[in-house]
Amino acid sequence: MKPSVFKGAVAHRGVVVHALDDPLKGDYLQHFDDGILVVDSTGHVIEAGYAAQMLERMPDMEIVDHGDCFIMPGYIDTHIHYPQTGVIASFGSQLIDWLNRYTFPAELAYDDEENAHSGAHFFINELLRNGTTTAQVFATVHPISVDAFFTVSREHNLRMLCGKVMMDRHAPEGLLDTPSSSYEQTAALIEKWHGKARLDYSVTPRFAPTSTSEQLGFAGRLLEEYPSVRLHTHLSENHQEIEWVKELFPKSMDYLDVYDQHGLVGPNSIFAHSIHLNEREWKRMGEAQSAIAFCPCSNLFIGSGLFDLAKADRYGVQTSLATDVGGGDSFSMLRVINEGYKVLQMSGQNLNAARALYLATLGGAKALGLDNVVGNFEAGKEADFVVVDPKATPLMAHRYALSSNFDQRLFATLMMGDDRAIKETRIMGVLAHQRD
Ligand SMILES: [Zn+2]
Repeated sequence: MKPSVFKGAVAHRGVVVHALDDPLKGDYLQHFDDGILVVDSTGHVIEAGYAAQMLERMPDMEIVDHGDCFIMPGYIDTHIHYPQTGVIASFGSQLIDWLNRYTFPAELAYDDEENAHSGAHFFINELLRNGTTTAQVFATVHPISVDAFFTVSREHNLRMLCGKVMMDRHAPEGLLDTPSSSYEQTAALIEKWHGKARLDYSVTPRFAPTSTSEQLGFAGRLLEEYPSVRLHTHLSENHQEIEWVKELFPKSMDYLDVYDQHGLVGPNSIFAHSIHLNEREWKRMGEAQSAIAFCPCSNLFIGSGLFDLAKADRYGVQTSLATDVGGGDSFSMLRVINEGYKVLQMSGQNLNAARALYLATLGGAKALGLDNVVGNFEAGKEADFVVVDPKATPLMAHRYALSSNFDQRLFATLMMGDDRAIKETRIMGVLAHQRD
C-alpha cells in the first residue's frame, strides 16, 4: 500500500469487531483486541487490523484512542416508522386496534411540512444516539413526509431508505390516497430521491388490508419500472390480520401469495415480521430471495408472536433486525438484540454474540442490498461505525470486570447495552453523536 493512501487518514484504536459473513456458515466474526480501524479522508475504510502491526507501517497517522471500547459497524434497522415516534410505548392494544387507536391519529399530523421536519429531526437524532446509522423507514401517505425525512437525512449525510405509504382503504380519510395518485406520487418521489446522495427509495404499501388489488398492482408496476428500488411492507404479524387478508383476497393461496400475485415478491423485497408463515410461504420466500425484518421488541410489545429464526435459516431466507418503532418500544438495536435473544430462547434456539452482531449490521445490509457499501469494515466501504462502552453502567462495569474473555465481554455488552452504551456514532468517519 502506498503511503499516499494514508494522507489525511485517521486511525481509531479500540476493540475492533465486525462480521465478514454470516457466522452460521463459519468463523466469520473478526476481532482485534487492541485493534485499529483506519478511515481515509473521504470517509471510507482503508483497513482494520491489529494496532501494533499497523502503527509500525504508518507511524505518523492521527490516532483517536477509544480505550477498551468496542468499535463496531453502525447498526442497521431494517423496519421503522418515523411518524410513530410520539406514540411509542402506548398502552393495551394488539395490531389492528393499535393502528386505529394510536398510529393513524399520529400519522395524520404529517400532512404538515413543519411538523414533518421537526419529527424527522427528532427521529434522526434518536437513531444516532442509539448507534443506528442506516434505517429503512416508513413515512406516511403524504409525499411531504418523505421529502422532510430525506432532506434531514441528506443534511446528516446518512445512508437511509424511505417511502411514502401507499394506502387506499381501511384508514381515516386524511390518510388515504388512490391507486393512481399513489403511483404518480411514488414515481415522482423516486425520481427526486432514489440514488441521490446516500438515499434510496422503498416502495411502501402499508400492508395488504389497506391496499386494494389495483393499488398493489401499481406497486408492482413501480418495481418493474424502477428495478433498483426496494419493496418494504408488513407480512403475517398477527392472527386477526391474517384472517382479514383471507377475507379480502379470497383468491390468494395465503398472505404472501397476495403480494406475489401483484409482483411484489423478489430479491429486493423486505417483509417485516413474517411470524406466522406456512411452509409454502417459507419456501417461496427462500426461492424469491426475499428478506425478513425480525422485530422482537414490537412482536412482544404488541403481543404478536415469536419469530422462528431457525426456520428462516433452513429455508435460506435472509433475516435482519429491526425496532419497528412505534410498535417497538425502543430505538436501541441493542435492546432488539436482547429481546431477540429471549424470543429465540422461548423456542429452544440460541443467538450467540457473533450472530447477533451480524444480524444487526451486515445481515441488515444484505437484506437491504447495501452490503457492497456498509455493514462491516472491508476496505473501501463507507465508515459508518459506533464506539460502544462496555462499562456504561455500574452493573455493566461489574460484569465486565468478571468476564474472562472476548466472547463474554461482547455478549454481556450486547445484552445489557442501550443508548447509554453508545459513546460515539460516526458517519463516514465524522462524529455525529457523542455521549459525553
Ligand atoms: Zn411496522
